[in-house]
Amino acid sequence: MLAPHRMSPNRRRELRERVQQLVRERLGDRLICTRCGAKLSTYADKCAADLDERCPGFNVVDRVQMDAEKEVGLC
Ligand SMILES: [Zn+2]
Repeated sequence: MLAPHRMSPNRRRELRERVQQLVRERLGDRLICTRCGAKLSTYADKCAADLDERCPGFNVVDRVQMDAEKEVGLC
């Protein structure tokens, strides 16, 4: 029997990929962090540097990603 309230792993992965796609579309090549000059493609290296506080770039990506997750129904 199918449980309609449950998502299959494939469906879930599909939605995650959709979220990543939306994040890429929205941030593209934009500068997301003025502190280290990171873009979406480089923030993992730049913003993830060993700093005392969280880099603003993380927050930008986080926010866009959370919005996208809500839109596709992931959370
Ligand atoms: Zn940064």
